[in-house]
Amino acid sequence: MQGNTGKLKEGEWVILWEEKRRHLLKLERDKVFYYNKGHLSHNEIIGKEEGTIFVSSHGGKLLALRPTFSDYILEMPRGAQIIYPKDIGVILIWADIYEGAKVIEAGIGSGALTIALLKAVGEKGIVVSYEVREDFALRALKNIEEFLGKRENHILKLKDIYNGIEEENFDRIILDLPEPWRVVDYTIKALRPGGIFLSYSPTIIQAQKTVSALKNTSCYAFIETFEVLLRPWQIEDLSVRPYHRMVAHTAFITCARRIHTEIKGNKFLKDELSEEVEENPENIF
Ligand code: SAH
Repeated sequence: MQGNTGKLKEGEWVILWEEKRRHLLKLERDKVFYYNKGHLSHNEIIGKEEGTIFVSSHGGKLLALRPTFSDYILEMPRGAQIIYPKDIGVILIWADIYEGAKVIEAGIGSGALTIALLKAVGEKGIVVSYEVREDFALRALKNIEEFLGKRENHILKLKDIYNGIEEENFDRIILDLPEPWRVVDYTIKALRPGGIFLSYSPTIIQAQKTVSALKNTSCYAFIETFEVLLRPWQIEDLSVRPYHRMVAHTAFITCARRIHTEIKGNKFLKDELSEEVEENPENIF
C-alpha cells in the first residue's frame, strides 16, 4: 500500500529493478522470484531496507523499491488500456481535482485514473465510476484496493453512461470513453456551475465531435483541446540530446468549464467566449 515506509514487509508490493526493466511483485514468505537472470527468494527481501540491491542466483543485480504510482499502474494487471502517467499528471491539474471534490469518471478501465483521482480528492471527496464491463470493473477494484487499501468514498456503478448520469451538481467529470460526445448533454445536470468537464480520446475525430457537442449546449466556456508530449533526453558525457524514441501519441485532452445554466441559449455570450479563447490562447493555457 502506498505510504508504507521502513523495512520491506511480507504482503507488500515491491518493484525489482534491473537496469531499465521493472518487475512488480508482492512479497510472500517462501516464494521465489524467477526471471531470465536466475532467481531470488522473497525471504531474502523481507525485512531489508527499501533501496537495497540484491544479487540473483545468476549474478543479476536487482534494486528493490516500493512502487511509485507510475510504476504500479504501468505494471498492474490490465483489463483495458490505462491512461498514461504523463497524461494523468496533466489531467489532475487541468481538471483541477482538489481535496474534497466530488468527481464522476467513466469508464473505470483498469483503474489507473481512479487511483489518481482517489488520491487527489482525499478522504473527504467522492469518486463515482461508471463502467459497463463487470470483468474490467472487478479487476480495477482489485488494482485500486491493492494500492490504496479499502476506500469508502469510491462508488462503482455498473451502468452504461450513454443512458444517463444519476448524480447532480458534482464538481468534476472525467471521461475516457469511445464516444464521449454521447454523454455531453447529461453532464449539464451532473456538473455544478463552475464545474469542469474533461475528456480523454485517442483520435482527433473523437475530440472534434466532443467539442461540437459541448459548443451545442451553450453551457460551456473555455473549451480547449490539447495533447501532452513528453520528450525524454539522454544526458551521457557529450551525448546530450533527446532520445531517438519517444511515445509520440497517446490521446487528446478536451477540457471545458460549465457556466451558469441561465446563460443557456445566450448566443451572444457563447460567441464572445469562443472569440476570446481563439484570440487570446495564453489566457487559457
Ligand atoms: N481510464 C481508465 C481506462 C478506461 S478504458 C484507466 O486509466 O485505467 C475505457 C473503459 O470505458 C473500458 O473499461 C470500457 O468498458 C468502458 N466503457 C465503454 N463504454 C462505456 C459506457 N457506455 N459506459 C460506461 N463505461 C464504458
